[in-house]
Amino acid sequence: MARRLNRRTFLGHGTCGLLAGSAALCTVPELAAKSSTSNKGLDYYQKLGVTPLINAAGTYTVLSASTMPDQVQAAIALAAKQPVNLNELHDAAGEYLAKRLRCEAALVTSGAAAALVVGTAACVTRGNDSAVLNIPTDMGGLKNEVIIQRTHRYGYDHAIRNCGTRFVEVETLEQYGQAFSDRTVMAHFFNAGEGKISREDWVRVAHSHNVPCFNDAAADVPPISNLWNYTQMGFDLVAFSGGKGLRGPQCTGLLLGRKDLIEAAKKNNSPNSNTVGRGMKVAKEEIVGLVAAVDWFLGQDDAAMEAEYRKRAELIASHLKNIPTVQTQIFIPEVAANHVPHLLITYDQNRVKIVGSEVIQKMRAGKPRIELNPSTGGAPASAGLPGGPNTIVVGVWMLQSGEDQIVGRRLREVLEDATART
Ligand SMILES: *Cc1c(COP(=O)(O)O)cnc(C)c1O
Repeated sequence: MARRLNRRTFLGHGTCGLLAGSAALCTVPELAAKSSTSNKGLDYYQKLGVTPLINAAGTYTVLSASTMPDQVQAAIALAAKQPVNLNELHDAAGEYLAKRLRCEAALVTSGAAAALVVGTAACVTRGNDSAVLNIPTDMGGLKNEVIIQRTHRYGYDHAIRNCGTRFVEVETLEQYGQAFSDRTVMAHFFNAGEGKISREDWVRVAHSHNVPCFNDAAADVPPISNLWNYTQMGFDLVAFSGGKGLRGPQCTGLLLGRKDLIEAAKKNNSPNSNTVGRGMKVAKEEIVGLVAAVDWFLGQDDAAMEAEYRKRAELIASHLKNIPTVQTQIFIPEVAANHVPHLLITYDQNRVKIVGSEVIQKMRAGKPRIELNPSTGGAPASAGLPGGPNTIVVGVWMLQSGEDQIVGRRLREVLEDATART
């Protein structure tokens, strides 16, 4: 160890030091209290001084997206206790998921973005094992053009470009048909994107040129049936995020689709070294966690989930009654992503004298800390969500039990304070 540790460094601010597992040796009262339940683990958020938040935003990556249901957490804790062969676990999980999700084959990846990487790599390298080593820098002789609608260029382009590909943009169905060349390796579709060309046409034309079709549906459950809708529509590869609506580990994703392509994706994935996917490792805990999350999610019911989210939105709205000019409305974004009830709050800024960005700050600064949907007070943060300076958006679907009450109370305080301003 380069840096010599003295006693002070080691013991920090009087923490438990070397014998951290032993509660009796702790010298700071609140730490002693916490670690008395040491078999449940220390609260490392507290130890690190990181303040947890109430997620009234939605499945935003930077807000850690979602929390895992108890049965998923329990499955992970159990899986953590014993070593396994990762290839065997990948194969078994893939087979199980393919059956449950009604597709030919499946692979657990480290996220939807990683599914885009190894799925694209599969299209570039299939039937050509040495290409696995060559991408993305040595593309000689490899097909490298990915056709995409201009309106589908998005924040995950880089995952596809990681494989040495470049985009060929089209806008109309006619341009699409003419864009295919002997260098075309894949046709990519952003499921929540808007554009002139339908999913059905996208698949049909690609297949008439024998080119595989990818659909990124990362944020597009619920409804539950989307997990098989797009593979059954003919998309050769479909990606979902494991840590958004599915509520698996945040660092997981699903790559679903054709067996030959999933096999090719595996060759480009961890645990194989010297592959484009090696840095996108999923561990046994994550693989098991995603399988458990899929089991949990398939046990849910679309109508019941929607009713629960509406109930939360209504409860929050009920806290805001009789604040002058405040209007509330429950809405479901039109597009495929975040397709769940949200609460939309608008008001006349002449009476409620606060802009949305300030509401965000006040909610964030309060106790407990609350994060509103980032569309609040500004431009729409996600496809299909409204925005505007006098607009507050509450994403209710990631709230935990009882948090709707807290969010409603705090919002009322903030808006009432602003109404009292002179
Ligand atoms: C969130 C998202 C991703 C990335 O998902 P991760 O699981 O975080 O890697 C990719 N594409 C779209 C459209 C997304 O919304």
